[in-house]
Amino acid sequence: MDTIHLSEPEKDVLKYVTQFAQKEVKPLAREIDANMTVPRKLIDRMNELGLFASYIPEEYGGAGLSFSFLVRVIEELSKACPSTALVLDGALTLFAEPLIMFGSEELKKRYLTRIAKGAVGGLALTETSAGSDAAAIKTTAEKKGGKYIINGSKMFISNGSIAEFFVVDTVTDKEKGYKGITTFVVDKGTPGFEIGREIHKMGIRGSSTVELSLNNVEIPESNMVGKLNEGFKVVMETLDAGRIGIAAQALGIAQTAFDEALEYIKDRKQFGRSISDFQGIKFMIADMATQLEAARLITYRAADMWTNHEDTIKVASMAKMFASDMAMKVTTDSLQLFGGYGFTTDLDAERHMRDAKITQIYEGTNQIQRDIIAREILKGK
Ligand SMILES: Cc1cc2nc3c(=O)[nH]c(=O)nc-3n(C[C@H](O)[C@H](O)[C@H](O)COP(=O)(O)OP(=O)(O)OC[C@H]3O[C@@H](n4cnc5c(N)ncnc54)[C@H](O)[C@@H]3O)c2cc1C
Repeated sequence: MDTIHLSEPEKDVLKYVTQFAQKEVKPLAREIDANMTVPRKLIDRMNELGLFASYIPEEYGGAGLSFSFLVRVIEELSKACPSTALVLDGALTLFAEPLIMFGSEELKKRYLTRIAKGAVGGLALTETSAGSDAAAIKTTAEKKGGKYIINGSKMFISNGSIAEFFVVDTVTDKEKGYKGITTFVVDKGTPGFEIGREIHKMGIRGSSTVELSLNNVEIPESNMVGKLNEGFKVVMETLDAGRIGIAAQALGIAQTAFDEALEYIKDRKQFGRSISDFQGIKFMIADMATQLEAARLITYRAADMWTNHEDTIKVASMAKMFASDMAMKVTTDSLQLFGGYGFTTDLDAERHMRDAKITQIYEGTNQIQRDIIAREILKGK
């Protein structure tokens, strides 16, 4: 079912993206997982195909395609390799989107034009003592003359080793809690800015996840994204978009796990017949397909609402929570359908299950999504 709203040209481009994902990305997925890196040539290919430029507005060198299109691209890439999808997702939903929404003309010209040419970006919010409680960050930015001096450290930053620049959240007025947070862009090469160790993970192993440390990092005031002390709004709105991207990533992972299991159960014979003949298996397939369809509908609806600039807070959290819980269930059941073979590393079922897990955790855990959904409902939204 294709219920997302795309223009005719977007539908045409998406066909090429699907082909690229299946022919060029999917064959590399095992290697990417094993080597724990997305090859540079694959990132360059995504750029060559215009995927980085796709979501950047035309005035900054992009194609100005819709957020709904981007969500479909993330889903198609995630069907092939969710680590590869995250390179693009991080650059566009986590770095470019806050600049598109809140950046000055100067920042947009300086950075969006580079993203449109394939530069990778990231978002640095989380710290060791501030995860779910994002407003508890301790990294500070102090004004000195026309500059800001940043000190602190960040944890679990995606695209860490490949990004050219990051959106970094800092405390500019510690008396004011979340109303004292300001967001800045920091370039990779800035003195005092260090990319730390590569963190090894159970899933999306090709995606670079690092710690960052910032020691007296001096940046111009013009690198501020949005207004002084209004950075929390910048990051929360960024995450609304980001969560729809994660829902699409979860959808892609689950769809591939399901498709592979479906092929297998038709061939696998026990008790003299195909295991797909057993009612116990049929019911599993029916449940998995229904959950996938429901997750797809809510994700596409959230994407269209973001594209139309509607209030998306509740639906973005619903999409992320529902699609990621679905992905964990569907990948677990897909592995089950392969029996003992699913438990081996000879097949991809175990990788899909490992990859699915992160979608329940990052960009706000699913406990936090439930909190947001309930809060919005109680507010009458
Ligand atoms: C692979 C990976 C990539 C990431 N990429 C990025 C990135 O690019 N940029 C970035 O800034 N961050 C990133 N993160 C950080 C991620 O968003 C956080 O890990 C996540 O928000 C959870 O924070 P935490 O790990 O500190 O867990 P905690 O906040 O310590 O949570 C621990 C447990 O307590 C639960 N919990 C906490 N508070 C509540 C509550 N109020 N009610 C109910 N339950 C609660 C949580 O749901 C969780 O189960 C990434 C993390 C990983 C693992």
